[in-house]
Amino acid sequence: MKNRWTDSGAEQARVRWAEAHGTDFALRCYTADLIGREPGLVLHGGGNVSFKQTLRDLLGNEIDAIHVKGSGCDLAGIEPGGLPALDLGFLRSLRALEVLDDDAMANAFRTHLFEASAPTPSIETLLHAFLPHRYVDHSHADALLALTNQPDGELRVRAALGDRVAVLPYVAPGFELARAVADLYEANPRVDAIVLLQHGLVTFGEDARSSYDRHIEIVDACERFIADRAAARSLTVAFATPDSPATLAARVAPLLRGLVALPIDDEDRRFIRSVFEWRATDSVLDFVNSAEAATLARTGPLTTDHLIRTGPFPLFVEQPNWSDDEALRQQLREAIETYRGEYRSYVTDHGGSLDGVDPSPAVILLPGAGVFCRGRTKRDARVAADITEHALATKAAAHAIGTYTALSREHLYPMEFRAMQRAKLDSRPERPLERKIVVISGGAGAIGAAVAETCARAGAHVVVSDLDPDRVEIVVRRVEQACEPGCAYGIVMDVTDETSVRDGYAETCRHFGGVDVVVPNAGIAHVAALENLAVDDFRRVLEVNAVGYMLFMREGIRVLRRQGLGGHIVVNASKNVFGPGKDFGAYSASKAAGHQLGKVAAIELAVDNIRVNMINADAVFGDEQVPSGLWATVGPERARSRGMKTEDLPEYYRERNLLKTRVYGRHVGNAVVFFASDATPTTGATLPVDGGVVEAFPR
Ligand SMILES: [Zn+2]
Repeated sequence: MKNRWTDSGAEQARVRWAEAHGTDFALRCYTADLIGREPGLVLHGGGNVSFKQTLRDLLGNEIDAIHVKGSGCDLAGIEPGGLPALDLGFLRSLRALEVLDDDAMANAFRTHLFEASAPTPSIETLLHAFLPHRYVDHSHADALLALTNQPDGELRVRAALGDRVAVLPYVAPGFELARAVADLYEANPRVDAIVLLQHGLVTFGEDARSSYDRHIEIVDACERFIADRAAARSLTVAFATPDSPATLAARVAPLLRGLVALPIDDEDRRFIRSVFEWRATDSVLDFVNSAEAATLARTGPLTTDHLIRTGPFPLFVEQPNWSDDEALRQQLREAIETYRGEYRSYVTDHGGSLDGVDPSPAVILLPGAGVFCRGRTKRDARVAADITEHALATKAAAHAIGTYTALSREHLYPMEFRAMQRAKLDSRPERPLERKIVVISGGAGAIGAAVAETCARAGAHVVVSDLDPDRVEIVVRRVEQACEPGCAYGIVMDVTDETSVRDGYAETCRHFGGVDVVVPNAGIAHVAALENLAVDDFRRVLEVNAVGYMLFMREGIRVLRRQGLGGHIVVNASKNVFGPGKDFGAYSASKAAGHQLGKVAAIELAVDNIRVNMINADAVFGDEQVPSGLWATVGPERARSRGMKTEDLPEYYRERNLLKTRVYGRHVGNAVVFFASDATPTTGATLPVDGGVVEAFPR
């Protein structure tokens, strides 16, 4: 492991923070960030660091303070505000207690902060407080976990590091661990570090650099020790398929997503769905395709810190039957049911309640395809996947030098269900389209972009598909900025090309796991009176608006059926379906075809609880960033056929509706959200979004 301290980096931190917070605190933030940026040390909110100094209260009294990382915050990119200060003297006085439960401990932290609005400090705050050093660094380094998740972990640590470290057997994080670490240090005051077996590393120093340097030196020594001994035993290949992992992943993702969705007693929602992250790096494939995977994969996590993201053990599906789709479905169903049974027993055996617990696996290892991780959001799924990638590589390293041995379930269970750990999970109230995946054709157009953003604001993950990669990218960025990173994904798709549409859905399944809401929307228009309508123009419009809708719906239906969770198709039809206009025959006829396809789909798909509804919007004009391609093409001619200027069109359309209102893309988006949220048991219906146009009333 490389020491990433540079004098110029330290200087930058000093320039940035020293004036307001002092040089010592600036350097604290600098090395905290260095640790946070090293995935071999900590991942996503893991690890914690501290810094002690004297602060003044309002009366000018000097008070000994400790700054500790907020619980669940990332060390990478940390700033002074991410290290809230607490009353050190008070925290140290707690050492006299015999026991201190989590609620009392968290309350003691919150009531002894210098800043009332600061994040709750880490569960390991007292460990930092009880040590005398100004700087304390704590990580969950992979190399250390490979060495210490062994039956003879202490011996291995001694062999790798000699007596420069003190070694502590596993103690659950919190008050008890803090006391044990302080006692151990006081008995061995000359050590450079404390190794917490099956947990991590603690180093300390009187300045930021010495504590950081020791941390890296020790982890580096562990890495070298493993590398010297690992060569003899590597994983042996035991599984191979003719198909690529990408092909298998696209095939299996909707099956898996359907089967791991937890049925619930709610007639509208019916299932708890999730968003997937699929990984198939060489290292992941080496692991899942190995002979050792069957035993090694099912072992527990590297450290309890990972539990809330990955669960206590992954699902490993042995020898997936890739050659027979029905047999594969059955095999996965049984594997998931067995997993759920085992997980439920794990909870109840430890006296837990199953209320609100999803017993489905968070991590699924599939020989041939790689690993799938799930979460409430793409971000959560990625966090689980990052942790899983490290876990698999570290388990393989542990196996190469000995026998990977995780903590027992007696230790795992209380940590997984600990309130201070659960508090790190996303507890925001669920929005109407939370956990749903919406795929939109023509997503880079004015209506498509607005539908994507409105659905994402309602909690959905959205796939923006369109012809032009640059415009797709603009919309994806816009949606992510409005909502959150990872909530949107762009796919280049030509709806008139069967292969392109099929590939687009395959890519969607690999990226998010499946589909819940299909929104056929890509459309073009042509202005010509029937007697002048060239057959090629008519065919061109029908090809996109009718054939394109059919293909986009057909491939979407195949994924929805395969997934088996019901779903929605929301057809963006047009006010023209019921209220056609002159010189607009090609458009009106093609839109009527799309609308009629929707009605037929409603009849065919009700049996699978796939609901199909139509939206009839009147003219929607875009904005500068995402202009309406359709209006750019037909606007001037539509204006001419109405005897007006192009720029007066929006006003004309506003004036002709009952409500005298303009129709925006977000209104169409709101209609999609309404249908897709299962708010009403409706299928085969048409919702006008037109301000009220009498001749276009649905009939
Ligand atoms: Zn820890």
